[in-house]
Amino acid sequence: FQTLPDLSAKQASQIPNKIALIYEDELYTYAQLEQNANRVAQGLLQLGLSPQTRVAILAKDSLASYEILFGCAKSKTVLVTINWRLVAQEVLFILNDSQTEVLFVGKEFLPLIEQIKPDLQNIKTIISIEQPDASMEYRDYTSWKNQHSNQSPALDYLPEDVTVQIYTSGTTGLPKGVQLAHYSFFRLMKGMQAQGDAWMNLNAQDTLLLSLPMFHIGGLWWTIQGMIVGGRGAVLNTFVPWRALELIEQYQITKVAMVPAMIQFCMAEPTFDTTNFSSVQGFLYGGSPIAPTLLRQAMDALQCGFFQIYGMTETGNMAVCLRPEDHDFSNETRLKAAGKPLPGVEVKITNSQGELLSAHQIGEIHLKSPSRMIGYWNRDEATKKTLVDGWISTGDVGYQDEEGYIFVCDRVKDMIIYAGENLFPVEIEAALSEHEGIEEVAVIGIPSEQWGEIPKAFIVQKPGYSLKKKVILSFAKERMADFKVPRSVEFVDKLPRNPSGKVLKRVLREPYWNTMG
Ligand code: AMP
Ligand code: MG
Repeated sequence: FQTLPDLSAKQASQIPNKIALIYEDELYTYAQLEQNANRVAQGLLQLGLSPQTRVAILAKDSLASYEILFGCAKSKTVLVTINWRLVAQEVLFILNDSQTEVLFVGKEFLPLIEQIKPDLQNIKTIISIEQPDASMEYRDYTSWKNQHSNQSPALDYLPEDVTVQIYTSGTTGLPKGVQLAHYSFFRLMKGMQAQGDAWMNLNAQDTLLLSLPMFHIGGLWWTIQGMIVGGRGAVLNTFVPWRALELIEQYQITKVAMVPAMIQFCMAEPTFDTTNFSSVQGFLYGGSPIAPTLLRQAMDALQCGFFQIYGMTETGNMAVCLRPEDHDFSNETRLKAAGKPLPGVEVKITNSQGELLSAHQIGEIHLKSPSRMIGYWNRDEATKKTLVDGWISTGDVGYQDEEGYIFVCDRVKDMIIYAGENLFPVEIEAALSEHEGIEEVAVIGIPSEQWGEIPKAFIVQKPGYSLKKKVILSFAKERMADFKVPRSVEFVDKLPRNPSGKVLKRVLREPYWNTMG
């Protein structure tokens, strides 16, 4: 397969009656996926959308999400996937920045859309995935879709055509749209296969747990890998640990992908029992570092092949992998590695002058992957900085040992990973600074057993103010997605600064992090 339309069409003709997806106990075949995706594509074409027009989805994952994913690809439009945890202002930014013309929205998010409707600049059509209330003037997805033919539009699809756009925040605070072409979902794995690398041995007998959301590259990529091998995917549209355990048992899940916080929650469930996982053969985790104690507990409990992946949205997901044979507690150093570059991926570590460093020297990690992004949408400057001669600057700090293992030690970028979600302090700081009683604020990540890291805000108040933590939190909640709200607030007299006035985050972090500089 070379493109998403190619994938859907071929599976529908070769294994039409095989189950592609399981959602709320509905079994959904590859033939159904193909036909519904065709209807969506015909509907989008009927709306007069030209190739590369942005279409967005703001909804929890359901069968419709996958129909829309493939439907957009088949109509040659680009699907912008939006994190449904974002608040109205954040969603507004993404819809306007992407110049989205058609929006598919889960009914529960219609009130949010109502709020921002007057400020939406390019939207022409809004389609509600579940039937909207009669009083609302939105189109109903099912009836809209069913008006259209289930025949595939006769269009040409190129592997290099941009097909999805995923927003990631940046050090500047403004989210950027990462443009991924069809090839991002196929090339790396195809190259690995050609070299005889079976990796996780994904195959047609597999049932994958789809517990990572489609709006993140990890979830989207994982779903598509399952479809490439003709396997089944069981959709978990919000992460509820007991439900994850139930799905694993009920459908005898063989391959699981989670962020570290999810593993922890599963193991903390009262219904958790190692037998829950007896069908699981492969466990993929990544997106953030994992605490060694948690990893050991998970390995003891699950007794299956563990795969850690390291990569980013810009690299088209995984680039580096730590495989089961390296999950060995007699080699603790090795266990701290993120893994080795996958076949086809190159890694280099450079100093701040861009000079190549040798083994064990710490610098910035750069990755070159056959799956890398095309570039950021409408951000030429940022693209030029991040993507140079095919190399992606990760903003992560680390080193490589003599055997080629990559160790991620810290980040150049000021990022916090809270339960797998990336947060950028500047964005949180900018929002909090709008409070009339706040003189200045600095946000850092502090370690948390449960969440990996949590955001903590250090606040200097204006003279005469005596703010309460509660006030700060409710102020924050109105302005940012819940996952960005600082879990911890500390009032201080002043922030540590260097002679040129820059806040020394390092000094703030020191009491909490002993291994990071
Ligand atoms: P995203 O674009 O959301 O996938 O975030 C990518 C970033 O997550 C990377 O640049 C790293 O900072 C972090 N990350 C991803 N995987 C790992 C890992 N296995 N270990 C440590 N950090 C990771
Ligand atoms: Mg991430």
